Amino acid sequence: MAKVILENICKIYPGGVKAVDNANLTIEDKEFVVLVGPSGCGKSTTLRMVAGLEEISSGSIFIDGRKVNDVPPKDRDIAMVFQNYALYPHMTVYKNMAFGLMLRKFPKAEIDQRVREAAQILGITDEQLQRKPKALSGGQRQRVAVGRAIVRKPKAFLFDEPLSNLDAKMRVQMRAEINKLHHRLQSTMIYVTHDQVEAMTMGDRIVVMKDGLIQQVADPIALYDHPANLFVAGFIGSPPMNFFKGSIEQHDGSLWFVEQAPSGFRVRVEAPQAASLSSYVSAAVTFGVRPEDITDRRLLTDANPHHTLRATVEVVEPMGAEIYLYLKTAGHSFVARVNSRETADVGQAVDLVLAMPKAHFFDPQTEKTIV
Ligand code: ADP
Repeated sequence: MAKVILENICKIYPGGVKAVDNANLTIEDKEFVVLVGPSGCGKSTTLRMVAGLEEISSGSIFIDGRKVNDVPPKDRDIAMVFQNYALYPHMTVYKNMAFGLMLRKFPKAEIDQRVREAAQILGITDEQLQRKPKALSGGQRQRVAVGRAIVRKPKAFLFDEPLSNLDAKMRVQMRAEINKLHHRLQSTMIYVTHDQVEAMTMGDRIVVMKDGLIQQVADPIALYDHPANLFVAGFIGSPPMNFFKGSIEQHDGSLWFVEQAPSGFRVRVEAPQAASLSSYVSAAVTFGVRPEDITDRRLLTDANPHHTLRATVEVVEPMGAEIYLYLKTAGHSFVARVNSRETADVGQAVDLVLAMPKAHFFDPQTEKTIV
């Protein structure tokens, strides 16, 4: 079991691509940390540097207190699970799981015990242990790949998009199984995915990356409720947070957000946000509101009239338990996630109430969160 520390890590590929830009991160012993971000943001490169599969351009990596910059992958005592499973096609499942230990000259009885224990944890049957990988489904193959990692009893597990090749249902199931595995093994796990839902449901902490830079490190709820900037706010959450360009105006002793558009909507800003926005009076801001913080006014008996806006329904998407309404104001398109009891017709004008105390404001220049 191990703590993993990344200190001022940079990776510049031959040709000059700066894939990772001064990453600093401490992953605690037994922690499950997910690296998430859009394709090309440097997640895999970061993980591969921890594994030793990619050279570090500058900075240091420590695993369990030991600096490993120059330690070859096989001596780092970590196990990696890949998206494409990387199983040996000509070996049985049993041998695939045993092979790493055989190379390390473990006694046969010890190997057998570890393989059977891992198979039992993962629900791999005795009959499946005798099959070749091609006779298994994608989910079963990924289980074998995880099993091969478990038998090594590594200091840390590294997962590189392990569920990307599975269908949606199997992905959800394996997600839960890897979560259970983490609870059972109590090991340090570092997991890379581009899927924010996977990140939110699996990570003790999430590292959001963009363009080689770490944007924010936080637990899932903190990330959702307190995104550090516009990018994180838009990346985490589905459907994503709505953004409106506009400005802060002072009127009747209160601050108002005024949408930037001819006859744009205006909503009153409340405490505690108002205090943080006092230096933005007459200045541009980006206003953010999550789809679930928008309600049809007809369903609220005590709606604040200063928090309402009128919008036109463009698309109605019934999801079963809820409805996604795609709407348009004077200047912006946005989404509301409303109760399935609501009815709305395309082209209809609806009055909506925004949960202003939960609203987000961003500086349009720096893209950082103001409040
Ligand atoms: P992610 O895992 O977030 O999709 P990667 O770490 O794979 O991102 O890649 C980060 C950046 O580094 C991308 O711009 C990618 O094109 C570049 N890159 C990745 N591997 C190599 C390589 N072997 N040689 C040159 N550039 C690479």
